[in-house]
Amino acid sequence: MHCTQSPRPQQALPRHHPVLHADVTVIGAGPAGALLAYLLAAHGLQVVLVEKASLPRVKPCGGGLNWKTVTLLPFAIDAVVERVVSRVLFTQHLRQPFTRTASQPLVTLVTRSIFDHLLVQKAAAAGAHVYDACHITRLEAHPHGIAIQGTGLSWHSRYVAFADGAKGILRRQLGFAASAPHDMGLDMDVEADPACPWTPETLYLDWGTTAQTYAWAFPKADH
Ligand SMILES: Cc1cc2nc3c(=O)[nH]c(=O)nc-3n(C[C@H](O)[C@H](O)[C@H](O)COP(=O)(O)OP(=O)(O)OC[C@H]3O[C@@H](n4cnc5c(N)ncnc54)[C@H](O)[C@@H]3O)c2cc1C
Repeated sequence: MHCTQSPRPQQALPRHHPVLHADVTVIGAGPAGALLAYLLAAHGLQVVLVEKASLPRVKPCGGGLNWKTVTLLPFAIDAVVERVVSRVLFTQHLRQPFTRTASQPLVTLVTRSIFDHLLVQKAAAAGAHVYDACHITRLEAHPHGIAIQGTGLSWHSRYVAFADGAKGILRRQLGFAASAPHDMGLDMDVEADPACPWTPETLYLDWGTTAQTYAWAFPKADH
């Protein structure tokens, strides 16, 4: 058994010259931010997409996209789809298994670092300026927008959109606690060896083995 949690080799992002004025600055290059940046740039707006991590970045995730979400995306993601499944095996305390099979595709499986990076690449190809490894150090409101300072860069933006995830600035600004009491997720890529009794067309979900949480095994192309 081999465990890993690292991004695989990815295509480099197109690099644009830094801008001094943006219509919209999107903070956070997860799926929400990257897709917003894509849509705004595709409509002709000057967009900056800022990410504090180096891209591509790893995110603990099962990588299961529900089918409806996939059909709503404005472009095809076939290049990064590893499996499409319509069967789910449920257990409680790893016992009492039962399976449900849908008549149509249920979940599309991707590796998050790869999927998220595809969305960022789409945003960049649509014209968004992507700054990664960039920490926002100052946001200052002016009559006609916001002055933004990040690591090694500063620019002015008419609007700022926060897509900075469950632990970001926006969450704190809205008054939610910095983290929930049981805020932990563990994620591991496990290479399936031939002796492993897995069924690659099935999602596994188990409740109750540890109190107040669940575990999953989502099959990917090779793990
Ligand atoms: C263990 C686990 C398993 C999951 N499995 C699934 C699943 O199978 N299917 C599914 O649909 N969902 C799953 N989720 C949920 C899913 O990960 C989130 O719903 C999704 O990531 C939210 O996307 P987002 O773009 O809002 O935020 P995120 O993906 O969290 O992206 C936010 C980005 O903002 C960046 N950022 C934060 N602060 C700043 C800042 N100040 N400046 C610049 N950048 C910043 C972060 O680095 C991050 O890259 C899972 C979550 C966990 C924890």
